[in-house]
Amino acid sequence: MTAKKILIVEDEQAIREMTAFHLSRAGYEVFEAQDCREARALLADNRPDLALIDWMLPDMSGLELTRTLKRDKEFDDLAIIMVTARADERDKVSGLEGGADDYITKPFSPRELVARIRAVLRRAANSTDEVVSAGVLELDGAGHRVSSSGQEIKLGPTEYRLLHFLMTHAERVYSRTQLLDRVWGANVYVEERTVDVHIRRLRKALTAASADDYIQTVRGAGYRFSIRDV
Ligand code: CA
Repeated sequence: MTAKKILIVEDEQAIREMTAFHLSRAGYEVFEAQDCREARALLADNRPDLALIDWMLPDMSGLELTRTLKRDKEFDDLAIIMVTARADERDKVSGLEGGADDYITKPFSPRELVARIRAVLRRAANSTDEVVSAGVLELDGAGHRVSSSGQEIKLGPTEYRLLHFLMTHAERVYSRTQLLDRVWGANVYVEERTVDVHIRRLRKALTAASADDYIQTVRGAGYRFSIRDV
């Protein structure tokens, strides 16, 4: 199991460093940004599981950043905890309405923070239990089963994860590198052609259901799951 990645967006250096210290000690891989611009750059390169975003930031408010991320297809599944110095109930509500998964008020203890992070990450993991359907395919996240018209399609664990990712991110093209990062995890060293091997296996498994065409090769770009144009 690779360490979960957390991005800390906080302009006050002392607080940022202290938070990073405690989260590293709790076993997380930590990235630090002092403003939204840095946060965007780190988000694009490192794909964190959770972002801890301070409300008051120099270039854009943490609430604005949260809203922007939740509207972005690429980051809408990123878990977000808003941090604020204000214990105002209205702030809490607007933070949550902006898309944050939870809210923590400064000053907080490292213990409380870690507990909140664990709870949010656990909830995020459970959301993969949902049933996703597209075209003739139905994927049951809780049972880890894929079927077509009630007929089960047998898939290996990697093919399952790959299909789950593609079905939940349909109609978008992902490069081999992006798929490695999102399906295999960024810290795992695998060659890019591994992706092609698993795509081939997945297509083969989907042939019986005539759903192999859903996995489309986009020349020079990567792969896309689509139920259109097939
Ligand atoms: Ca601040």
